[in-house]
Amino acid sequence: MIAKVITDISLDREFDYLIPENMESSVRVGSAVTVPFGRSSRCGYVLALAEKSSYAPEKLKSVSGFSADRPAIPENLIKLGKWISSYYCATQEHSIRTLLPAAVRSGRVREKKLKLYSISDRNEAEKYIISHAKESRLNKRIKVLQMLLRKGEGAKAEFSGDVDFSASAFDALCKDGLIHSREVALDTGFDDNIETIPDSPLEPSPDQRAALEQISQMLAGKTASHVQLLYGNTNSGKTEVYLQAISKVLAMGKSAIVLVPEISLTPQTVRRFRARFGSKLSVLHSRLSDRERFDEWNRINSGKVQIAIGARSALFAPFANLGLIVVDEEHDSSYKQSESPRYHARDVAVVRGQLESACVILGSATPSAESLYNVKTGKFLLCRMAAQVDNKPPPVIHVVDRRLDPAPEPGVSNLLSPILINAVEERLSRGEQAILFLNRRGYARSLCCPQCGYEARCPECSVNYNYTYSRSREVLSCHLCGGIVPAPKVCPECGFEEIRYFGSGTEKLESCVRGIFPGARVGRMDSDMMRSADDYEIILDKFRRGKLDILVGTQMIAKGLHFPGVTLVGVINADLGLSMPDFRAQERTFQMLTQVAGRAGRGERRGEVIFQTSRESDVIRYAADLDFDGFSKFDMEFREMLNYPPFSRMIAIFFKGENERDVAEFADEFAGKLAAYQHSKIRIVPPAPAPVEKIKKQYRYLMTIRGNGLKTIREAVRILALHSTPPSGVSVAVDVDPQNLM
Ligand code: ADP
Ligand code: ZN
Repeated sequence: MIAKVITDISLDREFDYLIPENMESSVRVGSAVTVPFGRSSRCGYVLALAEKSSYAPEKLKSVSGFSADRPAIPENLIKLGKWISSYYCATQEHSIRTLLPAAVRSGRVREKKLKLYSISDRNEAEKYIISHAKESRLNKRIKVLQMLLRKGEGAKAEFSGDVDFSASAFDALCKDGLIHSREVALDTGFDDNIETIPDSPLEPSPDQRAALEQISQMLAGKTASHVQLLYGNTNSGKTEVYLQAISKVLAMGKSAIVLVPEISLTPQTVRRFRARFGSKLSVLHSRLSDRERFDEWNRINSGKVQIAIGARSALFAPFANLGLIVVDEEHDSSYKQSESPRYHARDVAVVRGQLESACVILGSATPSAESLYNVKTGKFLLCRMAAQVDNKPPPVIHVVDRRLDPAPEPGVSNLLSPILINAVEERLSRGEQAILFLNRRGYARSLCCPQCGYEARCPECSVNYNYTYSRSREVLSCHLCGGIVPAPKVCPECGFEEIRYFGSGTEKLESCVRGIFPGARVGRMDSDMMRSADDYEIILDKFRRGKLDILVGTQMIAKGLHFPGVTLVGVINADLGLSMPDFRAQERTFQMLTQVAGRAGRGERRGEVIFQTSRESDVIRYAADLDFDGFSKFDMEFREMLNYPPFSRMIAIFFKGENERDVAEFADEFAGKLAAYQHSKIRIVPPAPAPVEKIKKQYRYLMTIRGNGLKTIREAVRILALHSTPPSGVSVAVDVDPQNLM
C-alpha cells in the first residue's frame, strides 16, 4: 500500500511512501505520520491511500511511523480541506493548516495524559500475593496488587496517601507483566467563567414554529435543499430557533456547530447557549490559550461535547457525526478569511454540510445578495420571520441633510447638526443614553498646509488621505500599513505654523461631544482605544450599567450589542462608505446603517435614529425606512445590470512587489496565459494598478475575472498562481469570491 503524504513544506505536492506492513491496518486518510524527507525526517498527513504509485517501488521510501505529537485529522475534514484547496486556489498545506488550530497541528502542547494501571491476570496476581506474602521486601508490590485487585484500575497518584506507596513498585510489576498501564487523556472541562442559570425552550411563536417545522423536514432529508436561509429581523427570535434546532439535532445523537462573527462572541451570546446546553457546549473564543484550544479540540474530537460555538474557524470543529451548522449573521464580512486560503466560512459551511449530510441554517436580518440569489434559484430554502417576538416598534429614523444646515460659526466644529444636538440634550435630561457613530478612528483624516498646499501622506502607501491624526498621541498613523510618524507642528515644506487638519474621526468627535455637553459622561470605543479585549469589556460594562451617558465609536459598536438604556443613535457621516470603488459598497453601507440603528430602543422606550449625510442616496433612504427588501431589489438590479456577483462569479488576482515594472510585467504575462481560457461568458479585466496602488512600498496590481462557468479557468489560475515562479520580490494572491476589491 502507498500513502500519499503532504508535509508542512511540500508546497502543494503530495509524496508517495510505502506503508510498512505493521502499519497497514492502522494507517488511514488523515493519519499524522513521520516520513523521511531528504536527509531529515518530517511530519505529515496522509491525504490518500493507493494500491500503486507511479514511481518504481525501489525508489520509494517508507513511512517511519505515526507522529507522536499530532492527532489524526478526521477523514471528512481532509475532504473538506481538499475542496478548499481546489476552490480557493490555495496550496494543500495551507488548507490542511486551517483545519487544525496551531497548537494541535504543531503538537507543541502535549495532551495531558494520565497513566492508569490494572491487573493483567487475576489468577496470576493472586498466586503472586500468596506465594510472596512472607517476603517483606516485596511488601509494597503486594500492596499495589491488592489495591488494584480491589479497585480494578488506578493511577499512581491515587495511592500516594499510603505510607507504603512506592512508584517503583508499579514499574517493577509492569516489568514482570503482572500489571499493565494505559494512557488516557485528562479532561480539563473548560471553564469560561460565566455563571449561568439553566433555562428551557420558550414556547415558539407562529413564525418560529414554521421555521422549526422546515428544519425538521430538512433534518429528515425531506427537503430539496440542506440549507435554510432564516431571514428574520433583529428580535424576531432567530437565536431561539437555533437553540431549539440544536436540541433536535442532539436528540438525533448528532452534533452541531454555531458560527458567529468574531465581534458577536460576547458573554451575552455565550450565556444563552451555555444556559441551554451547559457542559455539552465548547466555546472557541479567540482568547483561548494554546493549551485551552488544544483541550477544546480534543474534547470535540473525542465526542465529549456535542456543540461548538465560535468565529470562522469553529467551522472545522472535528465532530464525527455532524447534524447541523448554524451561521448567524451570514452576511457578515468577517466570515471571509483574508489570508490564504481565502475561504468564506458561510460557503464552506454549505459544502461541509453537503459532504457530511448535515443541515445548514444561515440566519440574518439583512441576508447577503449571494444567499438571496441562491433562494431565488432554488438552491436554498427560505424561511421569513417577519414578526418581532416582542412587538417592539422599530426606531424612528430621520435623515438630516447637512447641506441644508446653517453655516457654522468660524472655529466651531459642526460635526453634530443642531437637530442631533437637540436630540442628545433631550436624552441627557431624561437620563437616557445615546450612541454616536462615526466609522473612522483618529482625530483628523489629513494634514494640509493652507499656504503651500502641502499634504502629509504616508510615503510607503499610495492613496490620498492615508494618514490619520491622533491628537492624544500627537502622531500620524497610516491606516494602510500602520506606519507611525510624529505629527509635525509646522508645515514640513514651507514652515508655515498654521497647518490644518481636515476630516474627522472618533477622537475629534469625542472631544467635540465633551465640548457641547460638558456635564455628560462620555466613553469612546475604537481600535485606538481598545488595546486589549479587556478594554472592550470594561467600557461596554460601564455603558451597560449606566455609568456613561454617551458612547462614541466606530463599527466596533455597530453589531449585536444590547443596551436597553439607549434611545438615541446618531450616525455622523452616513454616506462615508458609499464612495468606495467596490460593488459591495452599497450593501456594506446599508448593513452598517441598519445595524447601528438597531442599537436604539431595545428597552422600554421607542428608539430614535438620526442619519447625517451630505449627499442624496437611495441606500440611505432605504436604510432610513428599514426597507431591506426595497434595498435588496435596488442593489440586485444594479449588480445584474453590470453582471457582478451573485449574477456571476468572480476571481480577483492581486500582484504585489517593490519593483513596479516587475509587478506589471509579471501580471501581464500571467494574464496572457489565461487568455486561452476565455469564453463568451467570461470577462477578464486585465491587470491594472489596484484602487490602493501601493501599501508598505509594495506596488499592487489587480486583475479580475468574472462570469459564469469559471471552473476551468479557476483551475488554470490555481496552477499558474501556485506553480509559476514570479521574479524575485513579486508575489501573487488569488481571491476567489472576493469581498474586497481595494
Ligand atoms: P434574534 O436572534 O432574531 O435577534 P432572539 O432569539 O434573540 O432574536 O429573540 C429576541 C428576544 O425575544 C430575546 O430576548 C428572546 O429571549 C425573546 N424570545 C425569543 N423567542 C421567544 C418566544 N418564543 N417566546 C418569548 N420570548 C422569546
Ligand atoms: Zn502607509
